[in-house]
Amino acid sequence: MSSTAHQHGSEAPRPLKEEQRPATEQIDELAPGVLRTQLPIDIPGLGHVNMYVLEDERGVAVVDPGLPNKSSYAQIAKHLRTIGVPIKRVHTVIVTHSHPDHFGGAHWIQSQSGADIVTHERFRVIWDPTEPPDIDVESAAELPPARKPWEPTPWGGPGIQIPWKRRTRYKLMSRMPKLMRLPRPTVRLADAERYSFARREWVAVHTPGHTADHLCLFDPETGLMLCGDHVLPTITPHISGLIRALDPLNLFFESLDKVAAFGDEVKLALPAHGNPFTDLAGRAKEIKEHHHGRLQRLRDAADDLGRPATVMDMSRYLFSPRAQGGMADSETFAHLEHLRLSGEFTRIETDGEYRYVPVG
Ligand SMILES: [Zn+2]
Ligand SMILES: [Zn+2]
Repeated sequence: MSSTAHQHGSEAPRPLKEEQRPATEQIDELAPGVLRTQLPIDIPGLGHVNMYVLEDERGVAVVDPGLPNKSSYAQIAKHLRTIGVPIKRVHTVIVTHSHPDHFGGAHWIQSQSGADIVTHERFRVIWDPTEPPDIDVESAAELPPARKPWEPTPWGGPGIQIPWKRRTRYKLMSRMPKLMRLPRPTVRLADAERYSFARREWVAVHTPGHTADHLCLFDPETGLMLCGDHVLPTITPHISGLIRALDPLNLFFESLDKVAAFGDEVKLALPAHGNPFTDLAGRAKEIKEHHHGRLQRLRDAADDLGRPATVMDMSRYLFSPRAQGGMADSETFAHLEHLRLSGEFTRIETDGEYRYVPVG
């Protein structure tokens, strides 16, 4: 999932961003044996997810096979038929991170073909009832307890509004995870670990930020980087203040630097939404600048207000009215915590609400 919430301006209709365009039937060969297909998704601000299909002598590996629903499975089968590969020849499903538009088809494909499900070692969906792994071991003690999306937020705001029907289903899924057909990874990769498929030896690149378990895969030989939602061509991925880390925005910055450091070695970035692009380092830098711009807006907003501000107060300075809500607040929270942890702001807690004010 991503957000387009950073867009501002008039309400006039704008041309759709690449990531927002509806899925098409088109199949593009990006490199020998590397195909891009698209699956429809119904998530605000996103029109499709790219399911890359990578061929080798054993069959194919697929990357991020869409949402968990029957019409999406039918579309997967259709694309594979067009390519000329029966579903039972899918030997590997790569899932870049624990969002449903990426892992949705994994369980179903595995049930058809016995495919391996490959993720980062910290892969964990929010419905998993077991304790989440901490990504930031030193700061684990300072972290608030893990929470479900429907539980109250630490900053005292309403959080992400989930319709009651879906909320009930989520609660049920937490108790009976089998109902959800959640993927059970069979291969969990550590950072820098190598893994072979599609006649290439890929290097795992752990890129926490958008989620704690985000995984990119790099092929040093041909310079392909599967980059999931970490770096998208024209929108910025949602940064949640609620992942199990003290400073999620800082983690994201580090992960942007990490992929940018590959420099010219990356010839083509393969994002999960939108079109493949060439200048990964340049795009990572742009996204970082976008967030630095937001941090500056929060400093200005604090001057403007002249009083301690809640996350919801501050959200209004960063997001347009139409983007307001739990996701916007969660991202604002990530930015405010970043300012707090870098020593610029302090946090006051009154009546169960966080308020932020510049130091000094
Ligand atoms: Zn996504
Ligand atoms: Zn995502």
